[in-house]
Amino acid sequence: MADIKKVLVLGTGVLGSQIAFQTAYSGFDVAVYDINDEVVGKARDTTFPNLAKTYLSEVTGATQETVDAALARLTYHSDLAEAADGIDIAVEAVPEVLKIKESVFGELNKVAPADAIFCTNSSTLLPSDIAPFTGRPDRFLAMHFANRVWSANTAEIMGTPETDKAVFDDVVEFAKQIGMVPIPMHKEKSGYVLNSLLVPLLGAAAELAAGDYADPKAIDDVWRIATGAPLGPFQIYDIIGLDTPYNIMQSGDADQQKLAAWLKENYIDKGRTGLAAGHGFYDYT
Ligand code: NAD
Repeated sequence: MADIKKVLVLGTGVLGSQIAFQTAYSGFDVAVYDINDEVVGKARDTTFPNLAKTYLSEVTGATQETVDAALARLTYHSDLAEAADGIDIAVEAVPEVLKIKESVFGELNKVAPADAIFCTNSSTLLPSDIAPFTGRPDRFLAMHFANRVWSANTAEIMGTPETDKAVFDDVVEFAKQIGMVPIPMHKEKSGYVLNSLLVPLLGAAAELAAGDYADPKAIDDVWRIATGAPLGPFQIYDIIGLDTPYNIMQSGDADQQKLAAWLKENYIDKGRTGLAAGHGFYDYT
């Protein structure tokens, strides 16, 4: 079993910041990396302190001491070689764009220790799409988190045919150590379990609203009332942030691209990008 001590998280956006904080909260040293000092500074000064507050109010047992200890285990970097120094595992959470992921893993492979494990948090790409660019396909796989990792604590773990079985098992173990419920997948499936279910639901909801069959709120009402689900699809859009579904739809077929254009024109271009912005399909101020 690999002895994982130091973790690198690439990307300090919605998911990267959560993965990094949850990992630090679980007792690991975590280096966080993003593209420049400004973005890294925003993560350090705003995103992570806000996450600490969220843990204090939402995570059972969290205290000022435990969240401060988590913050103290984080280091912030805009220099990749410095960030990757001495790491045992890297978790990539950069934008859902294959070219960006290719280049990030290509650069990371040059500076990370040869035995470090690389994971992607990609929601829609298969790990075998990215594996050739990692320089270490046997030590590469997907570990996919869900938004709000402290409560939606699944980690879907999906290797490629080239992933070393021992590395797969190490990542399953690591996921448990950071408080996740590991969901080991037997083979590659676009969308894993969660998004195989969720993406069609969100797409169908967008089709209904974009086609002006019903308002987002009414669509959410019917989903919650009729199925007993706690959240409607547009509440889920807001939690995810609209940019990620936009990127997914934009790379789909012509119908999907029309839905992407609808999301962009009516919401994203108006600054209504979701819960994190205070406005999305709903207002949160
Ligand atoms: P995001 O846009 O919120 O954050 C992306 C971060 O990556 C930003 O901080 C950006 O500055 C940074 N970045 C851009 N280029 C970079 C580079 N070259 N090197 C390092 N950092 C770079 O995105 P997100 O929603 O956190 O999604 C990140 C990944 O996680 C995607 O692959 C997405 O599919 C996946 N994911 C997202 C969710 C979700 O609910 N948002 C859930 C599960 C998985």
